[in-house]
Amino acid sequence: MTAPVLYEIRDGIALITLNAPPVNGLGQALRAGIQETFARASTDDSVRAVVIASSSPIFCGGADIVEFGSGNFGAEPNLPGVLRAIELSHKPVVAAINGMALGGGLELALVCDYRIADAKARVGLPEVSLGIIPGAGGTQRLPRLINVDLALDMIVSGVPVAAAQAQEAGLIDRVHGDAATLLDAAIAYANELVDSKAPLRDCAQMPAKTGALGDSFFADYRQAIARRSRGFYAPERCIQAVEIACNQPLEVGLQREAELFVECMNTPQARAQQHLFFAERAAGKVPGVDPKTPPRKVEKVAIIGSGTMGGGIAMNFINAGIPTLMLDLNGEALERGIGVIRTNYEISAKKGKLTAEQVEQRMALLQPTTSYDDLRDVDLVIEAVFEKMEVKHAVFKTLDEVCKPGAILASNTSTLDVNEIAAVTRRPQDVIGLHFFSPANVMRLLEVVRADKTADDVIVTVLKLGQRIKKLPVVVGVCFGFVGNRMLEPYGREATRLVLEGAAPEQIDRVLTEFGLAMGLCSMSDLAGIDISYLTRQAHRAAIAHDPSYAVVCDRLYEQGDCGQKTGRGFYIYNGREKSPNPDVLTIARAEAARLGVEQREISDQEILERCLYPLINEGALILEEGIAARSSDCDLIYVNGYGFPAWRGGPMQYADEIGLQTVVDGINKYRQQLGEYGEMWFRPAPLLQQLAAGGKSFRAFRKV
Ligand code: NAD
Repeated sequence: MTAPVLYEIRDGIALITLNAPPVNGLGQALRAGIQETFARASTDDSVRAVVIASSSPIFCGGADIVEFGSGNFGAEPNLPGVLRAIELSHKPVVAAINGMALGGGLELALVCDYRIADAKARVGLPEVSLGIIPGAGGTQRLPRLINVDLALDMIVSGVPVAAAQAQEAGLIDRVHGDAATLLDAAIAYANELVDSKAPLRDCAQMPAKTGALGDSFFADYRQAIARRSRGFYAPERCIQAVEIACNQPLEVGLQREAELFVECMNTPQARAQQHLFFAERAAGKVPGVDPKTPPRKVEKVAIIGSGTMGGGIAMNFINAGIPTLMLDLNGEALERGIGVIRTNYEISAKKGKLTAEQVEQRMALLQPTTSYDDLRDVDLVIEAVFEKMEVKHAVFKTLDEVCKPGAILASNTSTLDVNEIAAVTRRPQDVIGLHFFSPANVMRLLEVVRADKTADDVIVTVLKLGQRIKKLPVVVGVCFGFVGNRMLEPYGREATRLVLEGAAPEQIDRVLTEFGLAMGLCSMSDLAGIDISYLTRQAHRAAIAHDPSYAVVCDRLYEQGDCGQKTGRGFYIYNGREKSPNPDVLTIARAEAARLGVEQREISDQEILERCLYPLINEGALILEEGIAARSSDCDLIYVNGYGFPAWRGGPMQYADEIGLQTVVDGINKYRQQLGEYGEMWFRPAPLLQQLAAGGKSFRAFRKV
């Protein structure tokens, strides 16, 4: 086994090379290696200065997150101790930052006296996205090296900055153009520092760079981020830590930072956000598919349908520089669709996000057409036409006729059976579902629907392509509504049934947003369109016919033409940006409850929350049991990235794991009894949920295969 840290002396400079690929995660072995080699350099009189570098393409990705929650986390030597020893060195220490220095990696660089980075390097403290704060001095040293406002932004947003910006801020001392010769440059720089007797830097001797910050700076900052950090615990702790850096000596600040770090680490939020971190990495692994399978090439794409979804989907590809054809049989619709795309880009240009030239470059990549003949040489087609099986069949039959062999044929259907769509072609192995979410140019989630015959290389290709167009692809199986919309169905059913039983839409929405959801179910229905869910229900009346109360309030709203935001009336009445409760809803609910013999009553917030969330979780359990999702974390990714579920709860399945699966089972059983015939109909714990709860297990550990 090669050593995690290499040591050599070159030109009088001790070279400490982090050698734990792929990212030099600062696990116990690496920490011990740094400590040991640094001690050697310090006591060797022939060493003039020290350079810390990396043998990997990146300097250091930070803490070894796998160690979090394991016995090894914080094992001696701990990172803060190793770093303080470096900071106190009597010889100059230079960090040679290649690629990336993140989290603990940047904290390591911060204790060095000088920092040189390659021009493409990025540096940042992304701990906040894991529900914690930097815990090895980042919150105390960064505001001493750069202006407090920028330091605070970096720590609270977690977003890394590029080398040039870091140099301008004073975080990096020198930028070296060529990554390949960074090491030589760092050694030369170290010798230069010794020769010029450059001063050593100890953050303990530096005050925070508060500059011209006003008295209300921190209060204003808190207010400015209130909306985007709503519900999150760590951002406020980041602010507190930086405030201390401004008022207290380094030693006191480090102590307080350590306490705040532990406080954050012990929250369910940290577990939830770290769960999502691992969930994203796991999502790329598809059972039975060898990730080394060579992908097909995708250099030209076609989108069929220039409506709401087609336009948004096309923008993803154009943004990634991929030539894209857009086909619609209706010339006017096509023109309108192209116009919408141009308007979107022009709005971005007005906001300064794109130049006028970039707008034109993007539009030049988009080729409108009304002829399938133009599709002969495309590598991927994504169909986004009307949600009707006959229409999809017609499109796929034509694609089968005109597309070249090996072209991937994808459907953006939200609910239809992808196996049935594939069956009308002579190449079902090339057919797959690519379910984008609206607005498709914004939403990160991409449900990849693997049909029975979809070829492995098609899956590997779309996963890679998903990354290229900056999406988060999650593979799911074929069933009605796939994972996201299928789990949404019982959640929507309960929310609207609660209205029938006497809860006001605004109470339901308040409970759900207080829980952390971006939007309550009633507001979401108004946004998506009450007509859309009505039409979906019409197609599936047989499955719900036994429950005459099913979404009955929505049916009545639809029948009187109240379809939500698009008609100005739905669960709410919309007046410009204002919305107010629609009194019709309560009238309809009262009348329908009387007609159906449903008792109206006051409903507690707790009941609303449990009745909306437990059926959602229960459906997730069925999905896992059927193998529609490979792991519970896939359901969580879908909910957090596609349905506004709070990231700090980690997704519905992680939330269930956190409160305990037995609590969910007990809750479902409680409502089965409490709600009589209705409860008997819908409140039945999934066998897998019962089984895991009885064994004291979690969803997280469950794998069907
Ligand atoms: P839309 O009505 O806005 O657009 C459909 C477009 O397809 C129209 O421009 C129409 O002219 C065109 N079209 C119809 N038949 C065609 C054919 N045979 N050949 C070429 N063009 C044809 O619909 P949308 O909301 O963009 O939805 C499209 C698909 O995306 C549906 O399957 C829908 O279920 C799915 N989807 C929609 C959403 C959403 O929020 N709207 C979200 C995810 C998935």
